Formats: sequence, C-alpha cells, structure tokens
Amino acid sequence: MTHDLHGRTRRLELSDQALRDFEAVVLDSSPEGVVLDRSAFYPGGGGQPADHGVLIWQGVETRIAGVRKGDDLYLIPAEGDPVPPPGTVVRAAVADARRSALMRTHSGLHVLCGVVFRDYGCPVTGGNMDELSARMDFNLPEVPPGFKEAVEDACNAEIAADRRIDVRVLPRAEAFALPDIIRTATNLVPESVQDVRIVDIVGLDTQADGGTHVASTKQIGRIRVAKVESKGKGFRRLRIQISD
Ligand SMILES: [Zn+2]
Repeated sequence: MTHDLHGRTRRLELSDQALRDFEAVVLDSSPEGVVLDRSAFYPGGGGQPADHGVLIWQGVETRIAGVRKGDDLYLIPAEGDPVPPPGTVVRAAVADARRSALMRTHSGLHVLCGVVFRDYGCPVTGGNMDELSARMDFNLPEVPPGFKEAVEDACNAEIAADRRIDVRVLPRAEAFALPDIIRTATNLVPESVQDVRIVDIVGLDTQADGGTHVASTKQIGRIRVAKVESKGKGFRRLRIQISD
C-alpha cells in the first residue's frame, strides 16, 4: 500500500474518514511545518480545504492552522506556537466541526455532480468548497425553465434515499475501465499514480477522488441551490448551501 503515503507520512484519513484523534511521532519540525510519521489531517485538494486542529505534547499545545504539501506533509503551526522537536510523541486532534462540515459539503457536491450529469448530461468543469457552502461549474449550453428548483429537489431526493458512499482503492487499469471514471477524471490523474481511490455514491456518482466523505447521503443534511450564474458561453456556476 503506497497510495496513502505522502513523503514519510502515512495518511490515515484516506482509509478512516471518521478518525479525529491519533498518536504520532515527529520526524521533522520548524516554525514552517511539523512532519509526522502518521496523520489524519486532510491536506487539502480536489476543492476541499485543509483541516485544522491541535498537537498536544508534554503539556504543550501546538495549534495547526493548515497543511502544506511538499516533498513531505507539513502541518503548519499557528503563528507563535511552540513546535515539538523531532522524536517527540504527540497526541493529535483534527478539529471536528470544520472537518465534518467539509465532509458533508464535499459529499453534497458529488450528489450535485451526479444529479446534473444524470438529468442534463452536463460534465463538471470546476468546483470549490468551504464549510457548508460550495460552488460547482458545469458546461450547460441552455438553462431549462425551473432548472434550479428541479436540481435542488433531485439532490434532496438522493439524500432522502440515503445512498451508501463507498471508498475503495483500485489498480489504475481497473479504475479507468469504469465508464464514470473515464468521464470525470482520466486527464486529472497523473500517469505515475498506480492506485486510484474511488468515491462511489452507490447508484448515483462514481469518481476518482482523494477527499473525505460522509458514509451515506442522509448525513449531508439538506442541499439548497442558492444561485445559478451564467459566466459565459455554456459556463454555468451553481452555488449551494448545506443545512441540517
Ligand atoms: Zn470530490
């Protein structure tokens, strides 16, 4: 298993999205970043921002304000916080409210993506998210009457259906044999990547994705399509809000 290694850090969140606290050993540290042997901090990517949290060691607290992906995975300490020296065993906690909101939002975007493709045949061209709000861009030449309401209703129907959201890792050749993966990701996954992580909203949407997701669609809550913006020829931006 190499897909869950970034530099020297084993990324625990890729296989355990519910994990919020863990123990680790500091491999390297400076005010610019702390490198651990294992971490559940999502480093950011695929439109999902990085986790925040805290490291506790020898009665000292280091707040983590972000993550930088370089040759190693650098947990960025809050300005002025002391950093644990190499060799230190730390207890780490991922800020739960932020991460859980981002998981609901990310899964909500995949529901939106699945619904718009199924009902309108439109591919996604981009997206971004924050806690409980997000945008997704589609190539949709004409906006049919009632589009906003219809998309919102269809998304909430998929949430009510409580579809399972499965994560699995497939060898590259097998992953790209899945028709949905060809549609969404072929040119986004570098040649060097041999193991492809698949996020599957069973029966609705399958994508190559490195993000963190809730276990089933009901956990998303409610999706409101707040706005449909026209950004140019065929370029539509949908803004959504997630609530309980
Ligand atoms: Zn995603």
